[in-house]
Amino acid sequence: MSDLPRHWVWRGEPQPPGEAVLVDVDGVLADAAGRQWYLDDSRRDWLGFFAAAGEDPLLQAQAELVRRLESTLQVVLLTARPFSSRESTLSWLESRNVRWDLLALRGPRETVVQAPAWKRMSLIKLREFGFKFLFALEDDPRIVKMYYDEDLPCVYIHSGYYE
Ligand SMILES: [Mg+2]
Repeated sequence: MSDLPRHWVWRGEPQPPGEAVLVDVDGVLADAAGRQWYLDDSRRDWLGFFAAAGEDPLLQAQAELVRRLESTLQVVLLTARPFSSRESTLSWLESRNVRWDLLALRGPRETVVQAPAWKRMSLIKLREFGFKFLFALEDDPRIVKMYYDEDLPCVYIHSGYYE
């Protein structure tokens, strides 16, 4: 068992790893449709895009699905959101009553790596820590493919952000 990055956040006390599900945030739990325009032109405004996330509506179907999963399963939120979004993400999760156990997002110096590569590295770290993932929920087709390549079954959620 190896340590997790120190900037990842447990909802309560740290837990020993067990059977878990891996859940994306934007496009799976958070409805980011109202801020996609930050990414419309060729100079994508990622800072603006993530800074506006605090107002996102909750995607009810996925949130309810996660809530209804077996209570013994751990819910790991894996999002490529930048470290600067950590506090607003925690506030959003609390205000929308999302079920989660561990929030894994980018560290202060991890902004360069593309999301699929970053999530692959993070999946490896989470597995080394000891999580046994049963499946993932994800809306980015590149990441769905990466999970399959890493032998992680994945339910594709259609957000429409990648068309
Ligand atoms: Mg997403």
